[in-house]
Amino acid sequence: MTVASQLKLKPGVVTGQDYKALVQAVKEGGYILPAVNIVGTNGVNAVLEAAKKNNSDVIIQLSNGGAQFYAGKGFPDAFQAKVLGAISAALHVHLMAQHYGVCVVMHTDHADKKLIPWVEAMIEHGENHYQQTGFPLFSSHMLDLSAEPLDFNISESARLLKRAAAIDMSIEIELGITGGEEDGVGSDDDALDNPNLYTQPEDVLKAYDALTPLGHFSVAASFGNVHGVYAPGNVKLRPEILKNSQALVQQTHGTDPNPLNLVFHGGSGSEQAKIDEAMQYGVFKMNIDTDLQFAFANKIGDFVKENPKAFQHQIDPDTQAPYKKLYDPRKWLRIGEEGMIARLDQAFKDLKSAGKSVAAQ
Ligand SMILES: [Zn+2]
Repeated sequence: MTVASQLKLKPGVVTGQDYKALVQAVKEGGYILPAVNIVGTNGVNAVLEAAKKNNSDVIIQLSNGGAQFYAGKGFPDAFQAKVLGAISAALHVHLMAQHYGVCVVMHTDHADKKLIPWVEAMIEHGENHYQQTGFPLFSSHMLDLSAEPLDFNISESARLLKRAAAIDMSIEIELGITGGEEDGVGSDDDALDNPNLYTQPEDVLKAYDALTPLGHFSVAASFGNVHGVYAPGNVKLRPEILKNSQALVQQTHGTDPNPLNLVFHGGSGSEQAKIDEAMQYGVFKMNIDTDLQFAFANKIGDFVKENPKAFQHQIDPDTQAPYKKLYDPRKWLRIGEEGMIARLDQAFKDLKSAGKSVAAQ
C-alpha cells in the first residue's frame, strides 16, 4: 500500500498541500476526478449530492461566462460579474462541501490572453481571503494561453504561478489547442488537419522545466480532444501523446513515472477505452460540461412535454385544477438536478472514482 492510498483529508474545498496530495492519490489510485462546469447553485448542489452518493471526490469549476451568469446576467458590469460570480460560487462551495462530506477541488476554466485580468482579479480576492483565513478561495485557476506563442504562454504562466503559489494555489495551463468551442475559447478548425491540436512533448518538457521550481501546476495537453459532442468519427483521440510527454519528462529528469499532472478537456462523449488509456498516463482531471448541460435540459424538456398545461396555465381551463405544484421551480429545477446526478453516476463509474473519496468521515 502506498501512502497516497491511505490519504484522509478534512471534507470541503482542498487547497495547497492537501490538493497536491489529492492529485497524487488520484494518479496512484488509477482513477480520474470529473470536473463539472456549473452556472448556479442547482448545478453545485447536484454535483455535491452526486459526489456524496457515489463516495467520490469531485472538481467544481466555472468558465468566465458561467461565473458571469452566477452573478446574474443582468449585472451591469460584465467583468465585475465574472469576478464576483466566481467568488460567490467559491464561497458557496466552501460552506456546503464540508457539510456534504466530500473533498472538492475548486477551479476556474479557460482564461485566454484577454481574460488574464479576470484571473488576476480572482487571485487578488484569493490573497485577501488567504490573509484572513490562511487558505485561498480556489484550489487552482486555469490559464489557457495555448493560442499564443509558447514563450509567452510559459512566461505568463510562470508569472501567475508565482503569485498563486504564494497563497497555496495551483494553476492549470494548456499546451496545444483543444478543438471545438466553449465560451468563445477554443478552436473551430478541423481537428484532424490541425497539428496544434496535438501537444508536442518537447513543449511540455519546456513548460515543466520553467514551472516546476515555482509551484504546483497541471497541464491540459491536447491529444485530439474537442469541446462539445460531435458525430462519431469526427474526433480521433491519441492518448499516446500523453504517454510520450510523461516519458520525455521522466527520462530527462529521472523522475518517477507520470511526473506530469494531466487534464483531459472535452470529456463529453469520449470512448471508454480512450478514458482508460488516459488514466494510465497520469490524467487526474476530466472536464465534462456538454453531457451534463444536456442531462439537465433533457429531463426538464421531458417534464414540460408531459405537463404542457402546467407551463401555460396556473389553473386548468377545463378542470379548474391548480398547477402550482408543477410550475413551482423547485419541481422542475429538481428534475434537472436529477438528470445531472444520473449522468454523474455514470461519470464516477467511467472514471473509476466511485468509492474512492479521501474525505475523513
Ligand atoms: Zn476545455
